[in-house]
Amino acid sequence: ITAEQLTQDTLAKIKELEPKLNAMITVIDDAKPAENLDFSNELAGIPIAVKDNIITNNVKTTAASHILYNYVPVYDATVVSKLKAAKMTIIGKTNMDEFAMGSSSENSYFGAPKNPWDLTKVTGGSSGGSAAAVAGGEVIAALGTDTGGSIRQPAAFNGIFGIKPTYGRVSRWGLIAFGSSLDQIGVMTKRVQDSAKILNVLSGADDHDATVSEREVPDFTKALNQDVKGLRVAVPEEYFGEGISEKVKALIKEQIKVLEDHGAIINKVSLPHTKYVIPDYYIIASSEASSNLQRFDGIRYGYRSKDAKNLLDVYVKSRSEGFGDEVKRRIMLGSFALSAGSYDRFFRQAAKVRTLICRDFEKIFEENDVIVGPTTPTPAFGLNSKTKDPLEMYANDILTIAANLAGVPAASVPAGLVDGMPVGLQIMAKRFDEESIFRVADFIERSN
Ligand code: GLN
Repeated sequence: ITAEQLTQDTLAKIKELEPKLNAMITVIDDAKPAENLDFSNELAGIPIAVKDNIITNNVKTTAASHILYNYVPVYDATVVSKLKAAKMTIIGKTNMDEFAMGSSSENSYFGAPKNPWDLTKVTGGSSGGSAAAVAGGEVIAALGTDTGGSIRQPAAFNGIFGIKPTYGRVSRWGLIAFGSSLDQIGVMTKRVQDSAKILNVLSGADDHDATVSEREVPDFTKALNQDVKGLRVAVPEEYFGEGISEKVKALIKEQIKVLEDHGAIINKVSLPHTKYVIPDYYIIASSEASSNLQRFDGIRYGYRSKDAKNLLDVYVKSRSEGFGDEVKRRIMLGSFALSAGSYDRFFRQAAKVRTLICRDFEKIFEENDVIVGPTTPTPAFGLNSKTKDPLEMYANDILTIAANLAGVPAASVPAGLVDGMPVGLQIMAKRFDEESIFRVADFIERSN
């Protein structure tokens, strides 16, 4: 098959599936493979989708918000430049929760994507479109972003592999910022090995983003096809506590048993501050979001209210009409937590609790290589079943958020089915040790 043919076949497949899945906000109908393809690079000519909060030159980038519904950037995010340098073909921009705020992708201005396993269920979020595009068979890989679980939770809900690298592994230049101390770009694929190859391409220092580490990037594919003998695996009791479905727990315990049967050393541990991760995250992430979203003023880009009479009106009306309910909720929460009267009681407290959560992880990683547990408390839930109650929606993130607060790499690999729907095994490792994650994930994939 030629790269041209593969591109055309992929576009045809997307066209066939989109009315059902709604996984993409923009399909790049005139996508063409890069010129002078050199097939010693295995990624050359392979189509990939990119989440719509990642800037793409000349291709509309909306972050699934009304306020950016017509925004066409004039440059590429670093990750997009890197995919293009590897001669991958960008084929579309995926659906998501508005500004990546949500756990079901139902906060999209463009309507929710649907779970290919059961079209009445959510895809998870916020990278729900990326997950559905991969799981549904439109593409073999997509970029996602993860601030509190937005790669891992939809990966789990759609039965695919998703990895959020270490904070500082991959450049965020050109990512529409949500929570800058938490956001990471990562990869969502059907196969673990494809993820390792793509993360090789994305990783590493960038003159445009000072938060990226200068440290050398290992070849992640070297971690594939290894055994797990002697690997020290921590299992936190809190990840098997109240609120986690019994069937999910049972399935995850089976996977842990597989690791043990193959020589891994299983250690029971505790992450004692787990009960604080949700309130802690929602204060920190909303505070950062309220600051990051100030730039959407109706003037620089995107939507501008038609009936504004003066400058203040332009700001107020454009933002009131341009942002959805969840985004407004976070802006209000964050502005409140940062305001002079509440900063000490909320933001400063949250920052301190974050340090305690980081220490929980440091302690465990003194004696363990990875931490494993479920990715989510339940498999994918029904569309519209949690939209009325934001707190119930937030509770979904209880198992994924801590990795973002601590900046450690974390992934979700398919672990089997509960009631016909996929469940994910979460794997976390020390900062900059994505290799241990790939080692375990690839092993689990081969043993299932
Ligand atoms: N569900 C979480 C939130 O709504 C995480 C989102 C994300 O990781 N982008 O903030």
